[in-house]
Amino acid sequence: MNILLTNDDGIFVPGLWALHAALREWGDVTVVAPRAEQSGISHAITYRTPISAERVLLDGSVGGYAVSGTPADCVKFGVLELLEEPPDVVVSGINLGLNVGHNVFYSGTVAAAIEGAMNGILSVAFSSCPSNADQLDRVAAEALRVLKMILELGPETALAYNVNLPSLRDGEPEIMFTQQGAVPFGERYRGGEGRGTYQLHIPTGVHRRPNEGCDEHAVEAGMISVTPLRADLTDQDSLRLLERSARPES
Ligand code: MN
Repeated sequence: MNILLTNDDGIFVPGLWALHAALREWGDVTVVAPRAEQSGISHAITYRTPISAERVLLDGSVGGYAVSGTPADCVKFGVLELLEEPPDVVVSGINLGLNVGHNVFYSGTVAAAIEGAMNGILSVAFSSCPSNADQLDRVAAEALRVLKMILELGPETALAYNVNLPSLRDGEPEIMFTQQGAVPFGERYRGGEGRGTYQLHIPTGVHRRPNEGCDEHAVEAGMISVTPLRADLTDQDSLRLLERSARPES
């Protein structure tokens, strides 16, 4: 199993290397990750300026490619240039912070998985509750369990998966297949540090009643959320309604 591992928090964060340690027990892992943090960069790519990749060593033994670009750049460049052949799987994470609901659109972690899927490669993004920061090895073990399950059960048409892990307690959390949540976060702008500046504030801990069956609801209930995603944003229901409306009565 050849695995391309990336993230959006940067190549030196513990979340990526915890996942690396779990994955390398199981396959050949090539790390291609951003040199600097790229959280919230979404699916941005670098095409107006050149990018570069340099070999970096973490602790003198394991290493990877640090890319001067975004998570989507890392996957694109990894697949098209760095790796001799396309990987079997693209894995992104572990992001320390959930990527549920509308965050799927802002997340660089998820964008890396979508980029993998755009290249025809099965890709999985892993994000975790920040409260698991001191037990990343356990998060990584759970991530590997989910990855193996996706490879076993995943339909051939579904290439991108968004996985969110709840705050881990005793025992193995249940895995739930979910849809992407759609409840707004209730964001506000507050005065920033500089005169005339504003800072986006995203409230946390507010009970927003996520709809049942969605990613956020599953994580709040202590389950691992697995959402299959697609790069095609077409609203199929509306497309059919529009076609029906436009068709002359016969
Ligand atoms: Mn991040």
